[in-house]
Order: sequence, then C-alpha cells, then structure tokens
Amino acid sequence: MPGTAALEKPDNPISREIFDQAMEVTPGGVNTTIRQTGLPLVFTKAKGSYITDADGRRYLDYHAAFGAIVLGHGDERVDRAATASLSEIDLVGVGTTVQEVNLAKKIIEHVPSAERVHICVTGTEATFHAIRVSRAFTGRRKIIKFQGCFHGGHDYLLMNVISKPELVGHKDPGSAGMLPETIEETLIAEFNDLESVERLYRQYPDQIAAVILEPIPHNIGAVLPVPGFLEGLRAITSEHGSVLIFDEVITGFRHGLGGIQGLAGVTPDLTTMGKAMANGYPIAALAGKKSIMERFATAGGDVFFAGTYNAHPLCTTAALETISIFEEGDAYRHMFALGDELRAGLGDILERFGIPAQVSGFGSVWVVYFIDQALPIRNYTDLLQNNNDRYVRFHKGMVDRDIFMLPMSLKRNHISASHTREDIARTLEAAEATLKELAN
Ligand code: PMP
Repeated sequence: MPGTAALEKPDNPISREIFDQAMEVTPGGVNTTIRQTGLPLVFTKAKGSYITDADGRRYLDYHAAFGAIVLGHGDERVDRAATASLSEIDLVGVGTTVQEVNLAKKIIEHVPSAERVHICVTGTEATFHAIRVSRAFTGRRKIIKFQGCFHGGHDYLLMNVISKPELVGHKDPGSAGMLPETIEETLIAEFNDLESVERLYRQYPDQIAAVILEPIPHNIGAVLPVPGFLEGLRAITSEHGSVLIFDEVITGFRHGLGGIQGLAGVTPDLTTMGKAMANGYPIAALAGKKSIMERFATAGGDVFFAGTYNAHPLCTTAALETISIFEEGDAYRHMFALGDELRAGLGDILERFGIPAQVSGFGSVWVVYFIDQALPIRNYTDLLQNNNDRYVRFHKGMVDRDIFMLPMSLKRNHISASHTREDIARTLEAAEATLKELAN
C-alpha cells in the first residue's frame, strides 16, 4: 500500500521555533503539499550533495528538490553565469532576449521532438499549454493520461496519481474544486498496457486529442516502459490523429540531453521539460512540432500563451550553463555509474537479509519497492503490493542516519553530479544498518 512515510521528531529547537512562526502565517507552514512531513523541517544551507537544517544537522540529500537539483546544490558555474547575467539585464517583458534564443536553439539541437520551443516557469504551465494546444490542433476534447503519472496541478491532468486501491480503475481527481466537466474529459489508462489505450480509442472514436505520459513514471518511483510500449503509443496516436506528449519534466536533461525520447528513439509530437534543465532555477519549456507550436498566439495563431516571468534571463542563463556543463563534461557517466553502484549495493543487502524487495531506477534515480522479487512491476496496479510499513521503517532508519530521502513511499530518490563514491558508500552503510534492523 502506498502512503506517506512518517519522520520521527528530531531534536531541532531552532527549526521548531521557525516552523512555529511559519504555521502562524502559512497554511500548514509549507508552500507545497508534499513538503509537509508533519515535522518542523527548516533548511538553511544547501551545498553540493548536502543540505543542512537550522540546527546544524547535515543530511546527504537524495530529495534534490524533487529532482530539480541535478548538478548539486549551489553549483558555482551555474550561479556565477546566472548572477553575471543579472548585472547586464533582468526582466524586460517585451520582445526577445539573446539568452532565450540561445536556449531554444540548444533544446532544438538536443531534444528530437523539438522543432519550436516555448519557455515558461513551471512544469504545470508547460503541460497545461500542451493540452490546450492539442485540443485546438485536433478539434477534440478528450485526453488520455496514465494511472500513476503526475503532470502538475491544473484541472486537465490532476487525476489518478497515487490513488487508493479502491479508486484504481475509477476517476480519482486530486483536488476538491475541480470542474466535473474537465474530470469527465480526462481518461485513465494503465502504463505498459497498450490494450487499455486501444480500449479507450474504441470507446471514444475520433474524440481523443492527446495522450500524455511520463516516459518513465518517476512519480511512482521508476517503472520502466516495457519494450514496444512507447513505440506502440507512437503508432496508435499517429493512426488516430492524436497528439503524443512526453512529459519529460523529471527525465529531461536528468537522464540525457535528449531525454528518454533520445535514448528510446521514439519521438513524440510535444515534449514538456523543467526541473533538471536549470539545476533548480525556476524554468520550464514546451517544445514540439512546428505545425502544432505555431498554433500559439505568439506566432499569430489562436492559442493563448503568455507569462510575466517567461524566459527570465536569470533562468535562461542558468539553463544554458547547466546544458553546457552536460555537453562538455562526463556528468551523465558519473551519475549513471553511481546509480548502478547504489542499486547493486542495495539489492545485495536486501538479498543477504532475505527482505522481499526490488530495487528499481534509471541512471541517477533509484527507489526500493518492498515487493517480492517474483512479482512483475509494470504499472501502478502492480505497485499496490508495496509494503508501506516496511518503506516507512526503511525511510525512518535512513533519515535517522542523516540520509535524506523523499518522505513518501513509491517516490523516487535522486543522485546529483556532485554525489561522490564516498556518499554512495555512506548510503550503503546506512542501508545495511537500517535493513538489518528491519530484517529482525
Ligand atoms: N510533470 C512532472 C512529470 C512532474 O513531476 C511535475 C512536478 N513534480 C510537473 C509536471 C509539474 O511541475 P511543477 O511542479 O514545476 O509545476
């Protein structure tokens, strides 16, 4: 069963004091629902692979701001470039800046589906615009998303992410206040199950505007697409004249300069990106086919696209620098090697202690599912077998040992380019001690 992992109350009087003040002025004391852990967590420093709380306790960070931090916290090359840009220009709000032209060129160079690029601030905006332009382009209303995938907070797609077991197979809106009409138009399929997609096409012929997915659903850890699944979606959407959207907000630039589409050789019509693109600076992008992208009013078309902070030079410069670091160095090789080492080490410990579990992941992303080795993990339904109680104990043991992981069962963890082999060794030591307790 999925669920939230409880964190034990650490001894942190200064954090507690600040958090008490936060509770007086901010609902719940936090500005994003799943930043809420029920604990007074207040961080005052972040550098490289470490984050430090207000009381001076230092954690090895695998949370990485939900994956946005990919080079490491406070990367000096990115910060230096971004700060230097501020001495030249800040937000102007009319026309074009050199930085945004260069960033669009870079995205087109690397991301196979990108013929044209729009830049915005958040992943939510990118997927919102992707859906709206798909509806305008096809003249259709319905959208297919997959159980377990998350695409941001707007009404079009905020459905069926980590659903309660009894809601799998039903509409599961993620918020009160969503329009019933919108919920009606969003259809849910099973990841790695092309028949579940075909069924919706049979049920709603000529009504499906777009199919959107995370090509690796990292919002439920790391469920890998089976061979033929992404290719099958490409074929089905092409056959039916729907737009295929890869939401690469997590995978884009984290797993490679061309995202999963570059690695898998499957090219969607539209792609959304964000997070790792600028090592934590607030920026996102929507890219895709010229014929679709030129429906935006920016190009004289009929689909609204605007945002006061879109393509802020601070953030486009940070993105350009992040991308150039990936182009020039061997950061991906380093992160993938650490990922392999950590996954192998965790698998070995779990096996030695005879704990039924599977270590999954891709590249720099890793997750432990407390699910028997013999069971397949193809989609969210398979993940309902996860033993949440074991996850909570694993998580608690790791955090007690100063290894910070996402405080939610089924959520992924992220290695950054600034993690070292020593960090991985420390993590495995903590896992050894934690899982030994768990086995007993
Ligand atoms: N798409 C995916 C795959 C995401 O994981 C997220 C955020 N976790 C979003 C979209 C929304 O991005 P943002 O939080 O920047 O709005």
